[in-house]
Amino acid sequence: MKTARIELHIHLDGSLNIDWAYKASLRQKIIPADSTFEEYYEMLYKRNFMTRSESIKKFELVCDILQTRADLFDASYRLTETMAKRGIIYAEIRFASQQHTKRGLTQKEALQAVIDRAKAAEINFPSIQTGIINCLMHKRDSAAFNDAENRETIQVTRELLGKGAVGLDLAGYENNCDFKEYAPYFRLAKELGIPFTVHAGEMGIAEHVKDALDFGADRIGHGVNAADDPELLEELVKRQIPLEVCVTSNIKDTLDYANHPVKKLIRSGAKITLNTDNMIFAKTDLSNEHAQLEMIGITENELKQCTYNAVDAAFLDEKTKTELREKLRKLMK
Ligand SMILES: [Zn+2]
Repeated sequence: MKTARIELHIHLDGSLNIDWAYKASLRQKIIPADSTFEEYYEMLYKRNFMTRSESIKKFELVCDILQTRADLFDASYRLTETMAKRGIIYAEIRFASQQHTKRGLTQKEALQAVIDRAKAAEINFPSIQTGIINCLMHKRDSAAFNDAENRETIQVTRELLGKGAVGLDLAGYENNCDFKEYAPYFRLAKELGIPFTVHAGEMGIAEHVKDALDFGADRIGHGVNAADDPELLEELVKRQIPLEVCVTSNIKDTLDYANHPVKKLIRSGAKITLNTDNMIFAKTDLSNEHAQLEMIGITENELKQCTYNAVDAAFLDEKTKTELREKLRKLMK
C-alpha cells in the first residue's frame, strides 16, 4: 500500500526542520556559538516537559527564531516540503500569530508570511495542499492577560479566511485558568463564521472537552481524557465530533503505546483522526504513528478509517473533500 495521509494537528514551531532550526538558532545567536547539533536536538527533545515552565521554555526557544517574515516563510516552506515528501496530501498547519510579533511584525504580517509560503511550497510540491489554523493562546492565570492579542488573532484570521487561513484553535498550557473564560472568543469566532478546534482534554480534565463542545467547537484537539468519562465519550460518539489524537506526543515520557486510550477511543466508535502535534519535540511523523498503532493491534482498516475521518473533519468545502477522498482512494489501493 502506498502512503497517503492527512495531518490536521501539527504545530509549525514544534515541527521545524531540525537542520534549519539549528542553523537559524546559531545565526540569530539564540543558542551559544559552540552548541552542537546533537545538543540542540536533545535540548528540544527532553521527554518530559509537561510542567508549565518547561513547556513554555521549549516553545520560546523555537518561537524566538520565527520573528521575521523571511524566517516564518522559510520555516513553513520547509515543513511543507517535509510533509509532502512523507506522503501527506493535505495538512492544516497550526501557529499562533501573536507569538511572532517580538521584532515588529504585526499579527497579520506573520499570518501572511506563513500563507505566502503555502502558495510557494505547493507550486514546488504539488502533491500537498495546506491550510493555516491560527491559535488563540492561554498564557497566564487569566484570559484577560492577552485579551487584546487574542481578539486581534480572531480578526486577522477572519481577514485571511479563505485566503490561506482555515480556522482557529486555542493552544498553550491547558490548565492555566478557568477554561470557561474563553467562551466569549469563540462566540465571536462563531459570529464571524470562523471554523474552530480547541485543545482540550490533553493535559487537562475531561470537563474541558465539555466546555469546548459548549463553545461550539467543530473538532477537539486531543480530547483523549474524554476516554475517562463514559457519558462524555458517548456524546462524542453520538455526535461524531472528530478528535485530533496525537499519541506519541501524549506519551513522550513513557512511549507506552499500549496504555494510551487511542484503541479504546477507536473501538468505541469515536471519530478519531491521527496526527503528530510536534514532530521535533515528539520525534515522530505520521508513518511512525501508524506503525506504532499497528503494533498494538489497530488494524489496517481502522487506520484507513482514521485517514478518511480526517477528510471529513478538515476545514475544507465539500467539493475539495470529495476530491481528496478520490485522491486517497487511488493512492491507498
Ligand atoms: Zn497541539
